[in-house]
Amino acid sequence: MADNPFFAPSSLPYRLPPFAEIREEHYLPAFERGMAEHLAEVEAIAGSDDPPTFDNTIAALERAGRILDRTATVFFSVAASNTSDAIMELEKRISPELTRHSDAIRLNRALWARIKQVTTDDPEQAWLLEKYREDFIRAGADLTEPEQERLRELNQELSKLSTEFSQNLLKASTESALVVDDPAALDGLGEATIRSLEKDGRYVLPLLNFTNQPALAQLTDRDVRRRLFELSVGRAPVNFGLAARMAMLRAERAALLGFPNHAAYVVADQTAKTVEAVEEMLDQLVGPAVRNAEAEAAALAEQAGFPIEPWDWSYYAEKVRRARYDFDADAMRPYFELDRVYRDGVFEAAGRLYGVTFTDRPDLAGYHEDVRVFEVFDADGSALGLFLLDPYARANKRGGAWMNNLVDQSFLFGEKPVVVNNLNITKPAEGPTLLSYDEVNTAFHEFGHALHGLFSAVRFPRVSGTSVPRDFVEYPSQVNEMWITWPEILANYARHHETGEPMPAELVKKLEAAEKFNQGFKTVEYLAATLLDWAWHKLVPEHEVADPVAFEKAALEAAGIAFPLVPPRYRTNYFMHIFSGGYSAGYYSYIWSEVLDAESVEWFKENGGLKRANGDHFRRELLSRGGSVDPLASFRAFRGREPSIRPLLERRGLI
Ligand SMILES: [Zn+2]
Repeated sequence: MADNPFFAPSSLPYRLPPFAEIREEHYLPAFERGMAEHLAEVEAIAGSDDPPTFDNTIAALERAGRILDRTATVFFSVAASNTSDAIMELEKRISPELTRHSDAIRLNRALWARIKQVTTDDPEQAWLLEKYREDFIRAGADLTEPEQERLRELNQELSKLSTEFSQNLLKASTESALVVDDPAALDGLGEATIRSLEKDGRYVLPLLNFTNQPALAQLTDRDVRRRLFELSVGRAPVNFGLAARMAMLRAERAALLGFPNHAAYVVADQTAKTVEAVEEMLDQLVGPAVRNAEAEAAALAEQAGFPIEPWDWSYYAEKVRRARYDFDADAMRPYFELDRVYRDGVFEAAGRLYGVTFTDRPDLAGYHEDVRVFEVFDADGSALGLFLLDPYARANKRGGAWMNNLVDQSFLFGEKPVVVNNLNITKPAEGPTLLSYDEVNTAFHEFGHALHGLFSAVRFPRVSGTSVPRDFVEYPSQVNEMWITWPEILANYARHHETGEPMPAELVKKLEAAEKFNQGFKTVEYLAATLLDWAWHKLVPEHEVADPVAFEKAALEAAGIAFPLVPPRYRTNYFMHIFSGGYSAGYYSYIWSEVLDAESVEWFKENGGLKRANGDHFRRELLSRGGSVDPLASFRAFRGREPSIRPLLERRGLI
């Protein structure tokens, strides 16, 4: 095992993990050695005879655990994007061990005693020290021995359940797929799509990981739509029980740590700080959003000529959109070719704002042949980092889209960032990859996260790049969406893949008008999921949920968001974000971040839009700071004032 590639730092440019050398059997020994080495380093820090200082305690902890860090980073990246039976097995086995490992450090009394004695005058160090103190207290460092014992058990079980929840979902995406024998049942999807779904003489439409399957907008057969919808909302029913159990365990853990419920525990170290602050915001949105959705529903029923059901919504919304705005979503696809969207859209916008440039590095390999590697250079030509793009859906890839780091930027290690964007675009059997407008949106959004990672200029890995509160992290990514329809950018990338003709101006105008349509639906499905998350995580340990389906229904009714035509974007059984994705009691983050996003878009517009000076200001005050300062202070430094909710309400048509 001397040749285990995780045992030494990568020798590739930017310390890109050596994917060509990494084999599945390398993970377990690397995890084992990584954890053992990390614990020994921590023991040495905790047991030191020297008086505790920032350097021999906090900085030393930052320097510790390098093998484990390298291993876990690659393993969980691959487990999400390119998993296998062996990786899934190992994930089940290793997740509770990693939880135990993390508890062994955070509940180490000697170490905690030393951390409490550290002082520093340096502001960046002081901020990091405070993060460490928060992390330890929140992990239970101040609890008694028996309380810590119970905490360890709770964390163990939660970790196991979370892995099970996500693995059940990955299986359900194909096991609960819509299967038909007669391709005529899929009428509306288009010939090429139908052909690509053929499998052993049958046609299989896999489920995407949210309620409203995109095919519902196109399938002409109403009964097929109903079947698809029911498969979607009913998938992985075993997860209902897991979710209820997890909510109970989290409630008990919150109580142990001195909080009334898990939501209060979660928001305490977010920018929201209190449950009340989150609820005050959600309260302002629910009523107007439901009223908008009701008005939209009336228009759809009129179009349909009968009272519609949830599986009819997208289909008739598309018809109304066509009738009202003469807008045909499919007419846009030929103008959104994947490669062009990136080079002439996503990269171009970043180039004009921040002066960065991108070079293909076909010599560098990702973890799958479809992963593309780009080197990113700063305006002065200096190297900035690597950007990996994994655009296509695979049966062994988690649903949705996300960004993660393979190497965190830090001055401490002199490391530059390596970031990945994952999307789930269907790979065409042949020919160019043409995107939907939503997929273009996702490309710009995820790249906003990538910029947050790439521009990071901080000393310590713990606060690098996107290591900011969850209710802040969606803010820079949402801001980056503003360039999708920015005239110079759109004109640059939205060109017909065969003729090179720019997208006709009238199509662009229609796109903008049509964007305002269906906002009621979008806001309600989002808020319903948010309030469902909230209900599960405001439970107290005494409130055992015997019937999770009934609980879900009652929760939506109590929140004033039970609107049967617009179910939550995620139901409990497939709410990956909150039961396996680190967003428990945090799904509110998207709209919370959108307040800052809407404010920032307004600032860019007030200041002349797509200009280097504007990009540089945003980068300097915000993107480069990572989590090394108070995030709201960096927002204020950028915007020049406190955030207001008004731009968001205007954008969503809620005033
Ligand atoms: Zn995001």
